Amino acid sequence: MYEFFGCFWHGHSCQPFRDVATLSGDTLAERHERTMSRLEQLTQAGYQVKVQWECEFEEKTTAHAFFVRQSPQCTRDALYGDRM
Ligand SMILES: [Zn+2]
Repeated sequence: MYEFFGCFWHGHSCQPFRDVATLSGDTLAERHERTMSRLEQLTQAGYQVKVQWECEFEEKTTAHAFFVRQSPQCTRDALYGDRM
């Protein structure tokens, strides 16, 4: 089972002001606690849960985009460079 969590909506630790009430009346710390409790229930029920947090996903995709942009566009260029 895969879970993709938005950092604000699930109160990830990357978010500031974790103990201040949101417009919904709860705090980010409470949201995080509910999210972790739900994950615990799922694993107790026998599910394997793979979690992806929004901020970590953005880091991965940004890094991926950087390396793709820096990579040679053609395998031949990668092997021979400008020796041809
Ligand atoms: Zn986050």
